[in-house]
Amino acid sequence: MNHLQKYINQVRSHLLIILVANNAFLIGGWWYAHHIQHLSDINTLILLGSCALVLTVGFAFLSTSYLVSPLAAVWRAVLHIAPDTADTQAPNLQKIPLGRELIVSLVTHIYQIASITNTIEKIADKEQTNLDHDFIATSLPLPLVVLNKEDTIIFANQALAQYIGQNKTDMEGKNVYSVLDMAFTNEQTFDAWHRNARTNKAVAAQMWERVRLNLPDREQTNQPQFDLAAYYNQDNPQGFETMLVLFDHTNQYAQDDQAMSFVALAVHELRTPLTLLRGYIEAFQEELAGKVDPELEDFMKKMAVAAGQLSTFVNTILNVSRIENNQFTLQLHKESWKDVLENAVSAMHARAEVRGIDLQVSVDDNLPEVGVDRVSISEVINNLIDNAIKYSGTSDRIMIRAYQTKDGVVETTVQDLGVGIPENAVPHIFEKFYRNHRNRAQVGGTGLGLYLAKVIIGAHGGHIWVRSHEGEGSTFGFTVQPYNQVAGRAESSNNKSEIVRNAHGWIKNHSMYRR
Ligand code: ADP
Repeated sequence: MNHLQKYINQVRSHLLIILVANNAFLIGGWWYAHHIQHLSDINTLILLGSCALVLTVGFAFLSTSYLVSPLAAVWRAVLHIAPDTADTQAPNLQKIPLGRELIVSLVTHIYQIASITNTIEKIADKEQTNLDHDFIATSLPLPLVVLNKEDTIIFANQALAQYIGQNKTDMEGKNVYSVLDMAFTNEQTFDAWHRNARTNKAVAAQMWERVRLNLPDREQTNQPQFDLAAYYNQDNPQGFETMLVLFDHTNQYAQDDQAMSFVALAVHELRTPLTLLRGYIEAFQEELAGKVDPELEDFMKKMAVAAGQLSTFVNTILNVSRIENNQFTLQLHKESWKDVLENAVSAMHARAEVRGIDLQVSVDDNLPEVGVDRVSISEVINNLIDNAIKYSGTSDRIMIRAYQTKDGVVETTVQDLGVGIPENAVPHIFEKFYRNHRNRAQVGGTGLGLYLAKVIIGAHGGHIWVRSHEGEGSTFGFTVQPYNQVAGRAESSNNKSEIVRNAHGWIKNHSMYRR
């Protein structure tokens, strides 16, 4: 007889006994009421009805726990193996009063199936988190790295290992920032994007151009440069949260850098003759003032302005080249800001006058003395005023203001009422080589001035910003620190009256590596 048949027979016998007992009680009750107590028919009926109700309810309750005990044991077994309720005690199979053989067999089967499923899941897990078995990931001819939620490298392919000269297995398990020390051309770094994606996005993708890798064993000028693509997926079931692919452009970008070095070399040769030329023009202007035809005097002025512009161009190229080679240093000294600003502005008067523009300067009294590199900061002021002149359109006024902010730093603004900057161009104008395409054709320039200004202001410990409306004009502002704030910093050099700062154009990717 099989276990199920035995169980059915047991249930059947149990129910038979209960029903027979129930009926026997009722017949006994009727006999007692009718023949012993001589109750009337109606009273006998009421008494028997009540007895039937009580007996049925009583037997139903008694039978339920008995009949259900096998099912309860199976249920406990299921709870015992389920991951969420694994702390439930396993059923005691010896104590099952009914269908024990059937339940023992059922529970044994449940335990066996659970153990098989567990093994399958473990194998699947292992295969899923091990991208080494994935043909595409391993054979992709581009450096690829996959990160988990903790920024740990869980997979790096052979192409990446070759690219950065490290062993594949050495990289896996390490924090990505300790393996890939990347530098970007602006603040929108991978790290910044990643943090934003984690808080605001379920899925995100992004590209960066001209990313530079800093490998400790290579020279500064020989570091890999590449474009970077990243894909983020918050709920990836295998735990592959972020994927990075590197597109190598070292040769191409190195050529750009070499071109820059060549230009810098050529431009460097312009410096001496240009200084001579400017000196002679100035001497002529002084000597001949009022003695020659006004038209000739006007020519002289225009020559002086052109020579000044050429000199700004030369300085910009040389400075950018020094930044590229990490050779740009600033010497911060204690200076009167009113003095520095008015001097820089006066050097621009001729240029503004030629364009019929009035430079209006207002400097608040009682400004604290500031810590600045006079030459570099003057280049920033000149660049902002030069831009304001170039992009003034038909307007004839530029307002320059300097004041102390609530934070105690000295802020300077240069406001023009000219063509303004389209909203979509504003986030890019401090990038290297960026020029707004709408005025690229009409106005000459290199797209390096604001990039340089940002690097110089950054090295001064200040920040530079812009507010602009197309067709209404732009206001550029930047801050410099009071000298006592600068000097308070630990990095002051041995020479007490001079603080040396390095300026660099690359933004380190991660705060733990920021210089
Ligand atoms: P450029 O040599 O082209 O002037 P900059 O780096 O100084 O290079 O400026 C970058 C771009 O920002 C310019 O090409 C121009 O489109 C925009 N720009 C800068 N200053 C102004 C301004 N005052 N008004 C309008 N656009 C400006």
